[in-house]
Amino acid sequence: MKVLFVCAELYPFLKTGGLADVAAGLPPALKALGCDVRLLMPGFPALMKAARSTKPLAALPQKPLPWGPALQLPQASLVQAKLPGGLLTYLVQSSGLYSRPGNPYLGPNGQDWEDNAGRFAALGWAAASLGQGLDPDWVPDLIHVHDWHAGLAPAYVRAFADAGCTVPATVFTIHNLAYQGLFQSDVFPALGLPSSQFDVPGLEFFGQISFMKAALNFADRLTTVSPTYAREILSAPQGCGLDGVLRERSGVLSGILNGVDYQVWSPQADEFLSKTYDLDALQGKAIAKKKLQLDFGLVPLAKAMVVGVVSRLSTQKGLHLLPDVVDGLVQRGGQLALLGQGDAALEQTLVDAAVKYPGQVAVRIGYDEATAHRVMAGADVIAVPSAFEPCGLTQLYGLRYGTLPLVRRVGGLADTVVDCSLENLEEGLATGFVFDALSAADFLAALRRAFALYRRPAQWRQVQRRGMAQRFDWPTAAQHYLAIYQSLRPGV
Ligand code: ADP
Repeated sequence: MKVLFVCAELYPFLKTGGLADVAAGLPPALKALGCDVRLLMPGFPALMKAARSTKPLAALPQKPLPWGPALQLPQASLVQAKLPGGLLTYLVQSSGLYSRPGNPYLGPNGQDWEDNAGRFAALGWAAASLGQGLDPDWVPDLIHVHDWHAGLAPAYVRAFADAGCTVPATVFTIHNLAYQGLFQSDVFPALGLPSSQFDVPGLEFFGQISFMKAALNFADRLTTVSPTYAREILSAPQGCGLDGVLRERSGVLSGILNGVDYQVWSPQADEFLSKTYDLDALQGKAIAKKKLQLDFGLVPLAKAMVVGVVSRLSTQKGLHLLPDVVDGLVQRGGQLALLGQGDAALEQTLVDAAVKYPGQVAVRIGYDEATAHRVMAGADVIAVPSAFEPCGLTQLYGLRYGTLPLVRRVGGLADTVVDCSLENLEEGLATGFVFDALSAADFLAALRRAFALYRRPAQWRQVQRRGMAQRFDWPTAAQHYLAIYQSLRPGV
């Protein structure tokens, strides 16, 4: 089966979050199951620079469409390329749309690029055009689109289908329902979609255009990245205003847990560590801890429980609770090593906490892959107190690195971490610490459980080893996606 995988991020070339890791991990696993997978992405500078053996294919069609007016987007064309270590990839090349440095979605002022509707409509349009034979040598049987960035692909595909054309099947994966691709309705005419789609059962959302809603209504199947999140988004507040649409489509919605790329995220093969380690040889972890403490300016005490955080700093991640638990953490002899960036006010609050407790609380504002790996390896606990979390990858990395996850019971965190309650410890199930309410009190209660276990090294080791032995792998996730593909295209 020919599968076109449409997304806006790809590790290691361009990453703002977990989507990039998924785009790197899932397609090769699908390929291993026999799918002929190719990627389609915007031609962002980082990707164009990495691209090898590029082959120009065709201009994106702008001519009048079977259902009405033409698209009015800057000129764009499709090139075929190989990315190092990656699969064959189509890139939408357009200096008018993508030749800008930095973050794929935000300008240097931290605000969305003003023309994001056009920039990402072009991605969806390229996908649908490939479905209509833009590359005559390779026409996808199925288009798998990811997040709002690619959300118009199913809308264009539906428009072609309604016009009587043969079209590929479409699957849409929600990585985060909170980011919806909302735009003023005055951009609608430029998108070249049938006017009938600007409607409640289409992409209209309280007078605006929603790329996310377009995908939710027009894709054949919907998935999201954990079973619990798939349930949570069917009601407020996790439904983010789209729970009604999702309830209507719940019959075609499923939750498939993300996997981890253990080639990249494994302490036994981590290129960012000076000494690797594994289940049976944990000395490397002690070395990583000391290095982390020194690097972050923490007092290098082996017995201090180090809590790590690697995260975007947004309200989603629940890190506004941290300043209120830091006192309790430090009083108990713990340390905090945080790497993150995002919300400016939150950044400042966290920096203030570090100033208050020099040597015990260290906050590094920034985005850095190597440091992320070093925090993951060097910390004793990785904290993910999210308000909501579609899947979450950092807790999965924590498990593999013997860094016990401390998480809120929500979304994929609830699906992947088992609390160190007495009964779970006794029955050999515990892998971390889980709390319920989005409150500093509950967060601190979980931290106190972590301290209590930390004082029992033999039990701590047991929990650590259990987590390290677990696998959340892409081959398993890929099997579930393949089953969905096959249900849509039986026999292909
Ligand atoms: P989300 O996609 O919501 O940000 P995930 O847990 O799914 O959350 O994925 C986060 C990914 O981004 C992980 O690979 C994590 O290591 C990485 N990450 C987050 N913040 C940073 C940072 N400041 N520096 C480096 N990597 C980061």
